[in-house]
Amino acid sequence: MGDGTARPGQEADAAALDRADPLAAYRERFVVADDRLVYLDGNSLGRLPHRAVSLAAEVVRDQWGGRLVRHWNEGWLEVTGRIGDKIGRLVGATPGEVVLADSTTVCLYKAAVAALRARPGRGVVVTDDANFPSDIQALRAAAATVGGGHTVVVVPGDGVDGPVDAVADALDDTVALVSLSHVAYRSGWCWDLSATTAVAHAAGALVLWDLSHSVGVVPIDLGAAKADLAVGCTYKYLNGGPGAPAFLYVPHDRSELVNPVAGWQGSDDPFRFDPDAGPAPGVAGFVTGTPPIVSAALVEPGVDLVLEAGVDAIRAKSEALTQRFVALADGQLASLGFNLATPRDPARRGSHVSLTHPDARAVGQALIHEQDTIGDFRPPDMLRYGFAPLYTTYAEVDAAIQRTAAVVTDGGADRWRGAAPVVP
Ligand SMILES: *Cc1c(COP(=O)(O)O)cnc(C)c1O
Repeated sequence: MGDGTARPGQEADAAALDRADPLAAYRERFVVADDRLVYLDGNSLGRLPHRAVSLAAEVVRDQWGGRLVRHWNEGWLEVTGRIGDKIGRLVGATPGEVVLADSTTVCLYKAAVAALRARPGRGVVVTDDANFPSDIQALRAAAATVGGGHTVVVVPGDGVDGPVDAVADALDDTVALVSLSHVAYRSGWCWDLSATTAVAHAAGALVLWDLSHSVGVVPIDLGAAKADLAVGCTYKYLNGGPGAPAFLYVPHDRSELVNPVAGWQGSDDPFRFDPDAGPAPGVAGFVTGTPPIVSAALVEPGVDLVLEAGVDAIRAKSEALTQRFVALADGQLASLGFNLATPRDPARRGSHVSLTHPDARAVGQALIHEQDTIGDFRPPDMLRYGFAPLYTTYAEVDAAIQRTAAVVTDGGADRWRGAAPVVP
């Protein structure tokens, strides 16, 4: 980081930046119950869109309460595909290539098994150690399901940048699948999705992307990249709500990819009630059972807000927010023992910035309890600050820096050492 000297006035005035922010009005589209709360955890659970509040009442009271089973034919059957198509516009998919289903982990497992079975004779899955632990577990479960000695190779990285060369070096004609998180959940490293896909394809492997930390905040074009499969989370930058179903992407032309967990809702005609029914074509065939309709329906307002604002505008503000945070951290936090654990090049990171500190857990708890500031802690020593451009302000960036400095300089970390965590 920098020389640790605070340089007031070096950064443009946050209030002026907020006034000039073309996305400023979107903050009002979300429930902000407490204006003093600096919420920098939208990459873990996005804020609640106002529209989701009224929609929840419509879905529960009017549709479920009023229409009962009739509403399956009045909209529910289309919900996961319709919202999937909207998400498709955020990730470079065409209609019918994205569906809401399951959790991200389950979608990843299904996608990985499908990929491995489509590459017989190749037994290796390549991922990296910056991937989300659940993803690595699901890839191992997929390898075990397929059997035949399939293994998962976890390529080590340096904890900040993705191991670009080491992943490329791991590719040979034994590799069936490369599966990576587009943006790493710890450091925020952002893979070059298109270049990495091309490198894997050149070795004859399929590629499965996890877009959980990039969808809705980083421009994505799966179609142009010719990605084979993708999954992602809807409750982070898409603001879909706690435990909202995930999404799965399977391109139209990949009929060799078959859902390993067949079930009636993924069959070509669920209401024929035919145990011998074949899978529905395309991504619809990857659905297994009845989707969680209430939760799925509430994904739409957040996705609509991202579509309305536009990912390019969101990305521009995201880069400005993270740049400001990094510059202020260099000036005001480096001398207090914080180290940047996120790539400095904005093109190579997503929308969160991570700092390591020997007392990170206690600092994080002090921020929550004493400073109304929620980021999150990732063991052993990392604080993550997530910036959701639809509602995060430049003033919040400055406040997060000042409050983080304050808990260290006034002993807040000492008061919260050993406290049971409020946010996991
Ligand atoms: C958030 C996240 C998940 C979440 O998985 P769930 O199955 O929905 O709990 C998975 N993978 C990555 C990379 C994530 O960031």
